[in-house]
Amino acid sequence: MKELEQLKTWLEESDHIVFFGGAGVSTESGIPDFRSVDGLYHQQYDYPPETIISHSFYVRHPEEFYRFYRNRMLFPDARPNAAHRALAKLEAQGKLRAVITQNIDGLHQAAGSREVLELHGSVHRNYCTRCGESYSLDDILKMDGVPRCSCGGTIKPDVVLYEEGLDQRTLQRAVQYIRQADVLIVGGTSLVVYPAAGLIDYYQGNKLVLINKDPTARDSRADLIVTGKIGEILGQLVPDCG
Ligand code: NAD
Repeated sequence: MKELEQLKTWLEESDHIVFFGGAGVSTESGIPDFRSVDGLYHQQYDYPPETIISHSFYVRHPEEFYRFYRNRMLFPDARPNAAHRALAKLEAQGKLRAVITQNIDGLHQAAGSREVLELHGSVHRNYCTRCGESYSLDDILKMDGVPRCSCGGTIKPDVVLYEEGLDQRTLQRAVQYIRQADVLIVGGTSLVVYPAAGLIDYYQGNKLVLINKDPTARDSRADLIVTGKIGEILGQLVPDCG
């Protein structure tokens, strides 16, 4: 495939790659995304996922929120796939500067990536909304229903719910990395969730690569489109990651 050859050349020539990804990066690890045909939007729930994981729903119906969150958003047994491993390897080789992710699963860090900007937080961090005490994912898994702190307060995951703002410092660092990127690889994201999706507008170069198995909202902005599964694609391009 000539697109793969082109991407391979760009990766070889570059030492300022930045990766920006979404839920599609983790589907090959068994974590469903939201908008593919087999994603969460196409499963039957009383409310769409965007409603359930919104701040107002969390406040009004914490039991229902946690039922969905525990069943559909916590995947403690998921392991990094070839995409996570390839990106970690490119960083270790001094070619990739940062992974900017909309994912909350911690799989980039599990693969060995060090500079990971989590725009939407992480299921691995949880805190008491009353006293601020921190809890791990394991702590949450050991509790049933709405997790409670020893002080009696409710524990909230450190994930950005719909209606909540993104951490401004993380957002600014992401903008800086994207501005300085020579190659920007955008993968496994439908590019419809803002403000995260708007980040690609800060890219100033002419090597914007979109890797996705389906068309995205911003295909017309890309310099190169590689269609397929991101784990298979990056696994082929970066040796010993497949
Ligand atoms: P999305 O569900 O809107 O889009 C996923 C995109 O990835 C789709 O365009 C789909 O075609 C593509 N895709 C799926 N599997 C792929 C694969 N193997 N290779 C290449 N492309 C693939 O995801 P989004 O844009 O990230 O937005 C969803 C929001 O939900 C995000 O804010 C994210 O935080 C959250 N979310 C996170 C996780 C996670 O942490 N793993 C999972 C589901 C949703």
